[in-house]
Amino acid sequence: MKRPVILLTVNHENDSETYRIKRTYSDVLINVGALPLALPLSDDKNFLKESIRSAHGLLLTGGGDIAPELYGEEQSEKCESVSSLRDRTELTLIEYALEKRMPILGICRGIQVMNVALGGTLYRDISGHMAQGGYDKVHHMVETEKILEGICPHNYAVNSFHHQAVRVLGDELDVCARAYDGTTEGIYMPKYPFFVGVQWHPERMVNADTSSRKLFKEFVRRCTEYMNDSKERE
Ligand code: MN
Repeated sequence: MKRPVILLTVNHENDSETYRIKRTYSDVLINVGALPLALPLSDDKNFLKESIRSAHGLLLTGGGDIAPELYGEEQSEKCESVSSLRDRTELTLIEYALEKRMPILGICRGIQVMNVALGGTLYRDISGHMAQGGYDKVHHMVETEKILEGICPHNYAVNSFHHQAVRVLGDELDVCARAYDGTTEGIYMPKYPFFVGVQWHPERMVNADTSSRKLFKEFVRRCTEYMNDSKERE
């Protein structure tokens, strides 16, 4: 069966000549039948539009903080590893992907940039969610519901490597996972085929937890549907 092409965004910091991406994202996508491709960052909108046209899904990966000016807050020394180029690239990719109703999955920074793209805001610094040590270690419980029903258990133990979180929810978005302390850990767009962001790192839990693999399988299933539907439209 033909694999859907899924674009992965890469991590970057201002003034750096290097992109970084952890291999765990592509490993799990290859394993569940997708064709992941890491996309370079760019201000060339034609290139970004053509990239979205050539793909069947968008995965917004983890990374540094989003520039707070983009959600109406002031710069803060708490905001780390900002890349204005990455911010611009991802906001443009989300805009183009939404126009095509392409499936989008966001992880960690990904959920945050998805929320900002829809006009939402972020807490610039929260405590209690940055675990020390292994990415595969469970850190806190979340309560999941709605689009995550049938994918993750209602009471679900997740890892946690973030010091920022969704504050005011963006337009048309709803919460589908919340931590024990009230922190928003999952968002989605009810009137959209698959627009899901999670604050934890499911790609780091796939070996120990079947629900994480299920989430990627569901994403890839939606990307495959999108691919088959676009063939019909041609
Ligand atoms: Mn957390």
